[in-house]
This record gives sequence, structure tokens and C-alpha cells, in this order.
Amino acid sequence: MKPKLDIYYNASRQARLRITPQRAAICAYLADTDQHPSPYQVFADLKRLHPEISRATVYNTLNTLQQLGAIVELSFGADHTHYDTNPEPHLNLICLRCHQISDYHTNFPLDALTGTVLAETGFLTAAAKIDLVGFCAGCRQKRLAEIRAQYQDEKPQNVTHSDRASYGSV
Ligand SMILES: [Zn+2]
Ligand SMILES: [Zn+2]
Repeated sequence: MKPKLDIYYNASRQARLRITPQRAAICAYLADTDQHPSPYQVFADLKRLHPEISRATVYNTLNTLQQLGAIVELSFGADHTHYDTNPEPHLNLICLRCHQISDYHTNFPLDALTGTVLAETGFLTAAAKIDLVGFCAGCRQKRLAEIRAQYQDEKPQNVTHSDRASYGSV
């Protein structure tokens, strides 16, 4: 059994949920994907393979897995939710322009951090993802061109020293 699937099944057992064929299909889908799907995307993809599956079953199962800490909801406003199905500690590189989310694995001193957090606050960490929000390689240039195009009727402003300091590294 794949480790991801193991985590979902263990979490389901913890909540005393039966692994019905539908729940098994949802868990298998989450274990297989390396994307960060939206709830609707999970439902739409599963519906093609399992026409009998209902949206409520999919959404409730996703919600329960997220309450158990097996998957993590990434929220970008009301209609813009994605699930992170990767249980390993990692960084999410989130592009603000194309909304692509990619995983970046690096060693960071997580055990020391979560140990301190537990000792100081009693908070038990279930999963750790750090979101880095910005612009992907493909979007960096396009974004600047788009911003300039929006203001093409305007004359360029004199850039003040403080503006330059805050945007200099982008
Ligand atoms: Zn992008
Ligand atoms: Zn991720």
C-alpha cells in the first residue's frame, strides 16, 4: 500500500469511517495525484470513472480528511479552494497569476519547530506546508507586460526612492 493511501485509511479508521467503495475511490484518487486539485476537480474526475458517485460524498469525504489533518485545504478566497494531498512536509510555490501550485522539497528543521510548538502551546502538528506566494517563471515577465498594458494611456510616473526599494527585487 502506498504511504499516502495508508495515511488516508488510518485517518478514516480513526474517525470510525467505513472504507466504502466510494471512499476508497476518493482516497485512491488523492493518493495518485501530484496536483493540488480543487474539490470540484476531484468530483469531476471521479465522476467520469464512477458515475454513481455523488458530489456530497466527495465533498464530505474531503472535508473529513481535512479535519483529520490527512489533507490540507489551501484557501484563496470563497470560491478558490485547493487540497494539498501531500503528507510530507514541503513548501508550496503558489503563483498568484496562473494559480499553479507546485511542491518544493527541502530540509527544514521541522521536528525542532513542532517540538517547541507542542511544548509551549500544546498544539500537536498534523501536517506542515509552508506557502510561498509569488509568480512562477513563466508568469514573471507576462505579469509586468500586463500591468504596463493596463496603464498604457498614462505617462510613467517618476519612481521615488522608496518605491524602488520595495519593488527592486521582484
Ligand atoms: Zn504562473
Ligand atoms: Zn503541496
